[in-house]
Amino acid sequence: MLRCTGAVQTTNGAYPVNKRIVLLPGDGIGPEVTAQCVKVLRAVEKKYGLSFDTEECLIGGAAIDATGEPLPEATLAVCRKADAVLLGAVGGPKWDKSPRRPEAGLLAIRKELNLFANLRPALVLPELAALSALHPRAVEQGVDMLVVRELTGDVYFGQPAGEERREGRRVAFNTMIYNEDEVRRIARVAFSAARSRRGRVCSVDKSNVLHVGRLWRTVVDETHRDYPDTELTHMYVDNCAMQLVINPAQFDVILTGNLFGDILSDEAAAVTGSLGMLPSASLSGAPEDGGVGLYEPVHGSAPDIAGQDKANPFAAVLSLAMMLRLTLGLPEAADAVEKAVRAVLRDGRRTADTAAAGCKGPILGCNEAGDLTAASI
Ligand code: NAD
Repeated sequence: MLRCTGAVQTTNGAYPVNKRIVLLPGDGIGPEVTAQCVKVLRAVEKKYGLSFDTEECLIGGAAIDATGEPLPEATLAVCRKADAVLLGAVGGPKWDKSPRRPEAGLLAIRKELNLFANLRPALVLPELAALSALHPRAVEQGVDMLVVRELTGDVYFGQPAGEERREGRRVAFNTMIYNEDEVRRIARVAFSAARSRRGRVCSVDKSNVLHVGRLWRTVVDETHRDYPDTELTHMYVDNCAMQLVINPAQFDVILTGNLFGDILSDEAAAVTGSLGMLPSASLSGAPEDGGVGLYEPVHGSAPDIAGQDKANPFAAVLSLAMMLRLTLGLPEAADAVEKAVRAVLRDGRRTADTAAAGCKGPILGCNEAGDLTAASI
């Protein structure tokens, strides 16, 4: 467990006490990138006079090998008592034919911890702009957006759903459904996140066609009244998909449902062009409402490069920065971690996956990238 004590001012002015972090390294490159996060955490500890204890637990294939379960009860019990969880990645060919899949551990922990809000920043760093899938013209004004996606409702979970025969033909159906509480709580997360950014939320729906979209828009408008210091606009999802390509710089926070968020968050990721740089957070409430947060890189376990010191650890390290900011209330420390990553990149140092963007020294291995980042804190 992490015990967080010391004289750092938090967002609400109090000192952090008894904050607990669980590390779930998982499979493939998961343990390698998580180890770099621990180095960075130690550097944060030293700089700010904090005291961190971490507890490591099993998840995914590693947990299947040890216990037969992708999410052992012991892991879940520790996570339930934690303030934040940092996950590496799960999965790999070793378990492809296993009756229990590692990925089931991930789905289970999201469900058990009620992580209904998924936050994915998409930031084009000037140093890595050459990696963007877009024309330089589209990213030169600076792309820095956050996709807030509802994660536990919508057409993926709505009932009835199934396949059957009707009048001699096979039919399949799903139900798109949201209740107002589900929309309100994810809207709160988006407005809250906007407050620590540029204050602008663009809510994305399909209210010109769908009943669900009309309720979504109404409830988002109602929730916005509690956040008068933020600006709210609405956009249809088809237009949003187009605007992300034409002018991604216009977005600050994009708020949307599960289905649209699934697609738009991947599109936003392609705008940055570097899977190894993308962090994420899954929350069970707005930061001011408390609750646990699960932080993880967007990428998977990358079995093709696992164990070769080739992984880019920055997505995991930037996930740690999100944890410091959103769950641990340590914005200064979060800024320091993000600046440390930028400092490494500014020196022209690149991991293999980002080398196309102006590498000036020998390619960085995962370990060295972690060492340099920790040293820059
Ligand atoms: P992947 O993200 O693991 O890898 C896709 C490609 O990107 C690979 O070529 C890989 O080498 C590269 N890559 C990914 N992360 C990188 C990093 N940090 N640095 C450098 N290169 C990186 O996706 P995949 O190959 O489709 O899936 C591999 C396994 O991961 C599967 O078992 C899948 O189910 C699992 N997976 C897990 C998660 C998760 O744990 N959240 C997410 C996606 C996939």
